[in-house]
Amino acid sequence: MTQPLLPVEAALERLLALAEAAPIEQTEQVALGDAEGRVLATDLIASLDLPPWPNSAMDGYAVRLADLHAQPLIVSQRIFAGHAPAPLQPGTCARIFTGAPMPAGADCVEMQENTEVLDDGRVRFLQPLRVDQNVRPQGQETRKGETVMLRGTRLGPIELGLAATLGHAYLPVVRRVRVAVLSTGDELVEPGLALGPGQIYNSNRRLLVSWLQRLGCEVRDLGILPDDLPRTRECLAGLGDVDLILSTGGVSVGEADYLGAALREAGELALWKLAIKPGKPLTFGHYQGVPVIGLPGNPASTLVTFGLLTRPYLLRRQGVTEVAPLRFEVPAGFAWNKAGSRREYLRARLDNGQAHIYKNQSSGVLRSAAWAHGLVEVLEGSTPQIGDKVWFIPLSELLG
Ligand code: AMP
Ligand code: MG
Repeated sequence: MTQPLLPVEAALERLLALAEAAPIEQTEQVALGDAEGRVLATDLIASLDLPPWPNSAMDGYAVRLADLHAQPLIVSQRIFAGHAPAPLQPGTCARIFTGAPMPAGADCVEMQENTEVLDDGRVRFLQPLRVDQNVRPQGQETRKGETVMLRGTRLGPIELGLAATLGHAYLPVVRRVRVAVLSTGDELVEPGLALGPGQIYNSNRRLLVSWLQRLGCEVRDLGILPDDLPRTRECLAGLGDVDLILSTGGVSVGEADYLGAALREAGELALWKLAIKPGKPLTFGHYQGVPVIGLPGNPASTLVTFGLLTRPYLLRRQGVTEVAPLRFEVPAGFAWNKAGSRREYLRARLDNGQAHIYKNQSSGVLRSAAWAHGLVEVLEGSTPQIGDKVWFIPLSELLG
């Protein structure tokens, strides 16, 4: 009897559990400028109020509402951003600029467009005002002591900007995951060299190394591993200190599977048959305690299984909580009439809010993904028709 295929969610759940069982525990302090793409190792608590004092949201005049009955008012001071004001003299107003601290005694700001400056310099307020108008109160964004970011947050430009508003020059982050990348296959040749008979260029190496770097991993790029058992043993033995061995190729049925053979000798391995297309076979194992993920070699399969399964695994090893890509439903701009036993991830492009699929969805065609904006998910057994809602996962969600 053939083994039932493992649904995508079940495979992801297993991988995430394996990741949680082998978290990267070391942390380090890095300068804010070096923290892009890293994972916050501890909660970030605000050590001050934001803003630290009430300030003006406008260029205009700060005033005490109760003084307006006797307007026009003379201007008793000018307050620029970055300068400390004097208390507001009763019966006057203060020229104030955006971001400048409110003077004590003022309770609102009128924007300059709603005022008139008389020849003698006094200011007339043309519209009724209310208390706190155009004032950004102290602590409106954050109160001292509040948790602003949780550990496990990935640090991108916005998070780093937020850490900067709180005055952090360094942040505690999880050590980078060290990933060894192996491209297996006798047929593979590196770009730049001439192709011999039966040879193809190694595309997965570039795809994965660049992608891993985007995910903040430290990559040990081992190039091409020939289909040869002694060379495979040698390669594994020389790997050194890595957190994951990631290989491509050699996992299809019928393949002379040397990585598998080497792992069976000196480790353990499971061959998963996933209900996913492209990308049915996937290897998970250990070599001397180091996790090994073997992805299928066809480039579109590598892409889908890395993006949907390996990426979340790697992020979770670093303690990232949110590992699921954002996805949304869009109307299909195509009809899919082949109900499949595996969940299909079609390379698709959004045009006028509809998803259109690349004409050739073969697992060997990486060009389909270069053309695409994302992956359309077609569930097992389903045959979406034009206008039916399908789930769309943007590639930009997976790539970063
Ligand atoms: P395999 O899983 O080794 O049987 O490979 C499946 C298909 O993917 C074969 O057509 C391989 O030539 C191709 N393939 C494997 N590795 C790579 C690679 N690194 N770059 C491009 N194609 C590959
Ligand atoms: Mg191969």
